[in-house]
Amino acid sequence: MELLFLESIFKERIWGGNRLKSDYGYNIPSNKTGESWSVSAHKNGATYIKNGKFAGTSLADLYKNNPELFGGSNANEFPLMIKIIDANDKLSVQVHPDDKYAKEVENDLGKFECWYILDAKPNSSIIYGHKAKSKEELNLLVKNGKWAELLTETSIKAGDFFPVPTGTVHAIGAGALILEVQQSSDTTYRLYDYDRTDDKGNLRELHITKSLDVINVPHQSAPETYEPISMNEDSTFQILTMNKYFKVGKLDVNGHLPKLNLNVPYSILSIINGNGIINGYEVNKGDNIITPHQVHNLDIRGNLSIIITSEN
Ligand code: ZN
Repeated sequence: MELLFLESIFKERIWGGNRLKSDYGYNIPSNKTGESWSVSAHKNGATYIKNGKFAGTSLADLYKNNPELFGGSNANEFPLMIKIIDANDKLSVQVHPDDKYAKEVENDLGKFECWYILDAKPNSSIIYGHKAKSKEELNLLVKNGKWAELLTETSIKAGDFFPVPTGTVHAIGAGALILEVQQSSDTTYRLYDYDRTDDKGNLRELHITKSLDVINVPHQSAPETYEPISMNEDSTFQILTMNKYFKVGKLDVNGHLPKLNLNVPYSILSIINGNGIINGYEVNKGDNIITPHQVHNLDIRGNLSIIITSEN
């Protein structure tokens, strides 16, 4: 059974840069490219299969027309999305709604996301959570623009991982390169954008009322820690998050892992470092691959790190 390689698509952003080209070799549209949508079936940008008998088919159509490839998955649409984010400048302070709010207000899914920090320049940080203890305090601090008082800043380094549940105030800081796994949603509420203007001098739209509707008060931190597991003498696997929507882990192989049992309806492999051979296919840093339901085991050879995502 074939592995399915996906063609990334790219989104220009005012805070974007050129690292998706310099670090990942992608053919990006400009030096303001902020996001690679590496695995997506979202209506705002679907990725395509680039090899084998499904070459040229969008992931959205494949999920709809070939459910046998996705095993027991039975969402209306392909439910996951994987991006790489190049934050040359900082992103807006934002929050995402849960499924219920998103369905009612936006006809979209909620957006539980999580971040694996691929690289971070020295002194990089993120905004992760806030300090308000009540809705009243939150509303007051927002109304008066007391951002430093409200927001919690955390320093980051390569290899860090953050689950970002719905309702969590967050912002990626300048200098971070991040692999993001999320629900298939494009609904973002901007709380604060540092009063930045675009190249036409316009401020970006904010969504204060909706943000205040959905922000968790008080902030609930969601730490998850799992020990790395040795798969054999050449390889280690570590779970990063297991939540209602997805399970994400990191596999490092330096040598040969002859049999990785998948035990899931399908999975997504994102090669974040190195290269090698998986089930006979040559794979390189930057590749994103779906292992269909019919593939039960992987034979992995090489020196590489893989983020493995599956539905939960
Ligand atoms: Zn976000």
